[in-house]
Amino acid sequence: MWWDGLDRDAVEPPLETDTIADIAIVGGGYTGLWTAYFLKQIQPDVDVVLVEAKQIGHGASGRNGGWLMGALEGCHAFVDDSGTLPVIARQQLTHLVSRAGEILAKESIDCDFHHGGCVMAAARHDAQVARAQKILASFHGLGFGEDDYRWLTPIELSNRIQVANPGGAVFTPHVARIQPAKLVTGLAGVVKSLGVRVFEHTRAHGIQSGLIHCDRGNVQAGQIVVATEGYSEAGNPLHRRLIPVQTGMVSTEPLSDAQWSGLGFANNETFADCTRAATYLQRTADNRLVIGARGHYQPGGLPQHGLGDTRTTGQQRERIALSLFPQLAGVRFTHNWGGSVGVPRGWHPHVIHDTYSGIATAGGYMGQGVGASFLFGQTLAELLTGEDTDRARMPWVTRRSLEELKRWEPEPVPQLGLKATMMAFTAEEWLLDRYGGGVPAKAVGWLCEQLDPH
Ligand SMILES: Cc1cc2nc3c(=O)[nH]c(=O)nc-3n(C[C@H](O)[C@H](O)[C@H](O)COP(=O)(O)OP(=O)(O)OC[C@H]3O[C@@H](n4cnc5c(N)ncnc54)[C@H](O)[C@@H]3O)c2cc1C
Repeated sequence: MWWDGLDRDAVEPPLETDTIADIAIVGGGYTGLWTAYFLKQIQPDVDVVLVEAKQIGHGASGRNGGWLMGALEGCHAFVDDSGTLPVIARQQLTHLVSRAGEILAKESIDCDFHHGGCVMAAARHDAQVARAQKILASFHGLGFGEDDYRWLTPIELSNRIQVANPGGAVFTPHVARIQPAKLVTGLAGVVKSLGVRVFEHTRAHGIQSGLIHCDRGNVQAGQIVVATEGYSEAGNPLHRRLIPVQTGMVSTEPLSDAQWSGLGFANNETFADCTRAATYLQRTADNRLVIGARGHYQPGGLPQHGLGDTRTTGQQRERIALSLFPQLAGVRFTHNWGGSVGVPRGWHPHVIHDTYSGIATAGGYMGQGVGASFLFGQTLAELLTGEDTDRARMPWVTRRSLEELKRWEPEPVPQLGLKATMMAFTAEEWLLDRYGGGVPAKAVGWLCEQLDPH
């Protein structure tokens, strides 16, 4: 859906010979592209080569839910001795969305950016009220204030979004809606205009200090950035250090003004239902409602390359949408797709710059990389060019080797673990739907906490 009507003619030819660059980037998603962009801002003369195995935006960056967030999944790992996130880290996150918006405007990247914030709601079951309050307490515990995360009463929630069973919500201004494919293609266009040499359909088969082996030529470079995230496969130093977990989306047909007046979203807020299925929605610029939810794990830990998702998972998401918004009954769901997000064994994202080997990476976003890749791409560019900034001192930055990233257990351990977790999540939802938050749902909820404490 995101790619409908976009110009895909601007495909770059593959790398056909050996080449030399100052810095080489592997992966043409947001992380690779933002890194290239900021490298050129800091040192316009730096020679940057970017190789992409398929086409720009093939990975999660071209198929996500379009929430550009000033938040990091797993940021509890970065609290200081006082138990809060350091002030400078919080500032990086709370300023992230506005900073990204300014750069998108400056570079005339039209990606339907709308800074409308996000509503995380108790919207179906009474048990979700406690969950939403826990989310709010957790943000406040990290040191964020009422201006960053605040409570919406059921009436305030209904004034914004008309859900089936409004129980209250957390509101944050730190999220913007974007159109993912427009962002990735627009950013690629800017990066190319700045002189970055982009080679599509060029897979890196081997990455070592100073050298990338590709299909028909090698890239020799003093520094290398591995920006392959949830699409890191065999032969890549990140393989099995980040595992690909699938998540997917469905979209309605464009809805009429009358339908929207019965749904809300007047300020194009992004919206989440406080379930463990991690449901996330946005109203698109062409007036569709897109709904995403956590997915599955492919046997063998392979990333999802095809766009199509199974009809069953699509129907599950349609059911979630209808239970949130019964007013959608009779609306046509037109698209159903999925992709992979990178999950690190340590359950928190990272920026790594190994000054010894000259290899750097950023990722482990666990499905929250649209905003984080902007911050991490800028951080990588500053680290690679030796700029001394606050960003280089963030708690998620390390200067050791990629080896520092823990490996996942061999298959099928992750596959079985994720399957059990998803089954527990589904059982909890089923119990809540039918019997409310009684003892059985609480017992399964406890099991869910044990399986996924993150
Ligand atoms: C369905 C879905 C919904 C999502 N929704 C949201 C959301 O709403 N908000 C949010 O913050 N995050 C969301 N995410 C996650 C977000 O999209 C990602 O975190 C982010 O796009 C990661 O960007 P990236 O550049 O690091 O990786 P990717 O965009 O995955 O790019 C990696 C690239 O590397 C390339 N590559 C891999 N191996 C090689 C190789 N050997 N040689 C050359 N190239 C290679 C791949 O082809 C790919 O293009 C979602 C993800 C999915 C799948």
